[in-house]
Amino acid sequence: MTLEEVEEEIPLSFALAPREDHLPLTPEQERVYDKVVKSLGTFVPFLLHGVTGSGKTELYFQWGKLCLEQGKGLLVLIPEISLTPQYIRRFTARFGQEVAVLHSGLTARERLQEWLRIREGRARVVLGTRSALFAPMDGLGLIVVDEEHDTSFKQEESPRYNARDLAVVRAQMEGCPVVLASATPSLESYYNALQGRYTLLELRERIGGTLPSVEIVDMTQEKGLFSRTFFESLKRALEAGGQALVLLNRRGYAPFLMCSACGEAVRCPNCDITLTFHRDPPVLKCHYCGHHQSPLDRCPWCQGEMRVLGVGIQRVEEELKSLFPDLKVARMDRDALSGRKAHWEVLQALEEREVDLLLGTQMVAKGHHYPAISFVGVVLADVGLHLPDFRAAERTFQLLTQVVGRAGRGGQGQAVIQTYMPSHPAVVYAARQDFLGFVEEELERRKALGYPPFSHMARVLFTGTRKEKVEEAAWKIAEDLRQGAKGVEILGPASAPLARLKNRFRWHLILRGQSRKRLLALLATLPQRVGSVKVQIDMDPYGVL
Ligand SMILES: [Zn+2]
Ligand SMILES: [Zn+2]
Repeated sequence: MTLEEVEEEIPLSFALAPREDHLPLTPEQERVYDKVVKSLGTFVPFLLHGVTGSGKTELYFQWGKLCLEQGKGLLVLIPEISLTPQYIRRFTARFGQEVAVLHSGLTARERLQEWLRIREGRARVVLGTRSALFAPMDGLGLIVVDEEHDTSFKQEESPRYNARDLAVVRAQMEGCPVVLASATPSLESYYNALQGRYTLLELRERIGGTLPSVEIVDMTQEKGLFSRTFFESLKRALEAGGQALVLLNRRGYAPFLMCSACGEAVRCPNCDITLTFHRDPPVLKCHYCGHHQSPLDRCPWCQGEMRVLGVGIQRVEEELKSLFPDLKVARMDRDALSGRKAHWEVLQALEEREVDLLLGTQMVAKGHHYPAISFVGVVLADVGLHLPDFRAAERTFQLLTQVVGRAGRGGQGQAVIQTYMPSHPAVVYAARQDFLGFVEEELERRKALGYPPFSHMARVLFTGTRKEKVEEAAWKIAEDLRQGAKGVEILGPASAPLARLKNRFRWHLILRGQSRKRLLALLATLPQRVGSVKVQIDMDPYGVL
C-alpha cells in the first residue's frame, strides 16, 4: 500500500458530526480550567476528582482548544469500553478533522492511516485506549487520562505496564501537564494527591441535573429478586417516560447447578470453580477456560435432582420481561454481545430511545452519558464484595458509584441498591456518592493492614500441570527470596484462591515492602521457570485470585 492510497481514505474518526460550540464554564469549572492552563508548558501531574456529571469532558475540550491555538496537541486516554461512538462524536463535533482515534479494534490499515495523520500533524487531538499512549505526536500540550481508576489501563500480558502511570512519565518527558480524572479515583492516585505528589482538582457540583436520590434496600428482609421499592421505583420511572439502567455484575442465568440432595455443585474439569448455568440454549460454562457442557438433570454422585442456585443476569432479564411484558430490554454482557460493533449498536439503540431498559454487567457502568436515564437499579451489590482480594471494597465502591451516577443526568434521578450487606462502607458511601468518606475509611483500613498505598506489593505466581512440582517450586523460591530479603516481607507460599485454572495448578507468594526499589531488585533475581513450573511476576497487582 502506498501513501497515496492511504491518503484517499476518509479518516474513520471523522464521523461528520455537526460542529458544536464550546459551552460556558461554571465558576467551579473555571477555577479548575485556570489551574491547568497556568501549568501549560511545564510538567505538573494533576488529579481531577469530579462527581459524575460534573462536566469533566467539557474541560478537556477547552484545554484542547487552547493547546491547538498554541500549536500543540491533546492526548486523551480512555478505557476500551468507554470509547464509544457517542464519545468520539462529542470530540469530532468540537475538533472536526483534527481528531484521530486509536483503539485495538482498528485494522492494520486504519491504524497506519491514523498514525500518519498524527505524525504529519494533521490530527492533533488524539483519542484512544492504552496503546494510544505511544502515539507519534510532536509537541504535546496536555495529556488527559479519563476514568483513571479503570483496571483496563493495566496491561495484563507482558510487558505489564500501567498506561496511567506511563502517561505521567510521558508528560514528564514532554514537559507538559497531565490530568488524571475520575469520579472515583484509585486510592493510589488519591493518596499521591494527599501526599502532594499530584495537585488535586475538584468538581463537586453536577451540571444540568442533581445527584440522584439513592435508596439502599436490605434484602435479608425481602423475598424474590426485586424488592417492592425496586419494582415501584422502576415502574414509576418507566411510566413517566424515562429510561432505566439495571446492573447485576454476574453473567449467566445462575452461578451454580447444585444437587438438592447432597449439595454437590457441577465444577469445571480444568479449573477449581463451579460452572455457570446459561439459558437459551441451556449450557454450563466455565468463565475462566471456556469449557462448556450440557446441564445434568441428575446428580452424578447420588442421583439427586439438580437445581439452579443464585441469580445471574439472564434470570434478571427473564424476570423483568415477565413483570413488564411490553418493555424493550437490551442486555449488555459478554454473552449477549460479541465484539465492539454489537456493543456500539446497543448504545445507539439506547440513545435513539429504541430501548426502555438497559440491563448489564459492569459494562453498563462505564462512561455513558444518557440524559433520559432516570432510574438505576442494582439487583445485588454484594457480588464481588466477598472476593478474597484487598481491593474488593474499592472496586465495588467504584462500580456502584459509577452506575448510580448514570441516573438523572438530565434532571431528577433515582437509584435503588439491593444488598445483603446494607451497612458495608462500599455500599453506604456509594449511595451517598461520597468519595471522600469512603477514601478516609478505606485508607485507614489499608494502613492498619499494611496494604497499598501504604506499601508496595508484588505477587509471584507459580503455575504448572503437576501439583507437587508447583508447590515445591513455590517453597524453594520463597526460601531463596527470604535469604536476600532486606526490608521486604514475604507472605506465603500458599495455594492461590483460584487453585487450578485451565488445568494448571497455582501457588503464589505476596511480597510487600516500603521501598519499591528494593522490591524490584529482589524480583529481578527471580528465574522465569523452575523446571516445568512457570514463574510470573505481577507488580502492583490489581487482584490476587
Ligand atoms: Zn447429589
Ligand atoms: Zn474452566
